Amino acid sequence: MLPDIEKLLELQVADKAIRKLQDEIAALPKRVAVIEQKLAGTRAHLEKVQAAAKGDEASRKKYEAAIKDLQVKISKYRDQSLEVKTNEQYKAIMHEIQFAEQEIRLNEDRILELMVNVDAREKELKAADAEMKAQTAEIEKEKEEARKVTAEDQKQLAEWSAKRETLRHAIAEDILRHYDRVSKFRGAGLAEVRDQKCMGCQVLLRPQTYNEVTRGEKVMVCESCQRIYYYNPANNEKHEREVVTVAGRRRPRPKADAPQAWFYRPDYGEEGEVLLVFLNHGDNSSRRIYEMHTGRQIGGVLIREGHSRLAFPEDLTDSALRLNGHWDEKEIEEWASEIPSHVLDLLHKDLLALQREHRATHKDHSPVPAEHSAAS
Ligand SMILES: [Zn+2]
Repeated sequence: MLPDIEKLLELQVADKAIRKLQDEIAALPKRVAVIEQKLAGTRAHLEKVQAAAKGDEASRKKYEAAIKDLQVKISKYRDQSLEVKTNEQYKAIMHEIQFAEQEIRLNEDRILELMVNVDAREKELKAADAEMKAQTAEIEKEKEEARKVTAEDQKQLAEWSAKRETLRHAIAEDILRHYDRVSKFRGAGLAEVRDQKCMGCQVLLRPQTYNEVTRGEKVMVCESCQRIYYYNPANNEKHEREVVTVAGRRRPRPKADAPQAWFYRPDYGEEGEVLLVFLNHGDNSSRRIYEMHTGRQIGGVLIREGHSRLAFPEDLTDSALRLNGHWDEKEIEEWASEIPSHVLDLLHKDLLALQREHRATHKDHSPVPAEHSAAS
């Protein structure tokens, strides 16, 4: 491996570590803010309960004062009753006393009602108070934790940044510039080449490019994603053996009118590379789409009238490549949302074989390789 590439790999590790640390440092205050917001809500609730309790207390005092006034009134009436001359006057005073006594009972009832409320209110107060305390303790703990983690993160960040600077000084300037630019847009500036594919964008390398990458004599850049290639022989030994056995065999040709047809499309809208399977059942046909590299199903099953060749013209464009593959329909249904990896492997291998075959037969028409070499 070229020394520049080795250092770039180390730089990528440092860049990733720095980004992770920066994210962590930025996330901690946000976590504290969330708890603080919750705490403010609890505090507002507590204050409301406290205000209600105070209101009840004021009402109770008011009713008690009213009772006292009424009692004074009654004793005055009783004094007056001793001095009355007529029966009518006596009756009138008795009536007043009765009325005042009724009023006292009314106020006593109100006080009783408040007392019942007080019990419930006290419970509510206690609960809100306990919640406040628990949240305050939690926030203190969280803040302390955040302080500790941040301090440790800052320390590591300083170490990684120093390492990063050292590495950057040791890498050729133009390569570094390219790495920076691609990292900025794609998150990573390097891509491993494995199984003859760019692991950054999953595009297959032309044999000549692949050979050059494996020789590792110059810095090479992916044509489609612009990432700088690196190649680790240890990750590719198994594949090399497989390629030899697959390459030795002729690829069978899929039958045009088979009831099940698999296709590969490199350009399926936003999804990019996909696998499509059409199942034909006489007067109707169904379509399933899967993500090329994960095998994850995209959307549901679409059923249309007629043979898939006619029913799905928008899917079967010139870029659709027909693949070999036939699985039991029940089995396909049982896969549910994902193609199993052994099936996906077979489809990938068939596509690889198809592309190799295509390259062999279209040698003269293949576009001129356009590898950028940043340092040759
Ligand atoms: Zn790429």
